Amino acid sequence: MALVVCKMCKRAFIDEARGKEICPECVARLNELYPVVRNFLRNHDRQIFTTHEVSKILGLNLKDVDGLVAMGLIACQPRGKAPQ
Ligand SMILES: [Zn+2]
Repeated sequence: MALVVCKMCKRAFIDEARGKEICPECVARLNELYPVVRNFLRNHDRQIFTTHEVSKILGLNLKDVDGLVAMGLIACQPRGKAPQ
């Protein structure tokens, strides 16, 4: 176990050796946001959005959208790369 600072909310929490940098509270919030973002991206699967655009369109906190990417829940392509 180690004391870790959550990279989302900057609060310190005890990481129970899971190697996560996001606290359980933020993980719970992101897990709720995930279906919203996933559905949005599915409904617009021919378009590519930046995390900034997604947060703006859905009215979400940009940090939360970035957090979903950091958790590996949604894929994020480097800028300027064509979709597969
Ligand atoms: Zn947190």
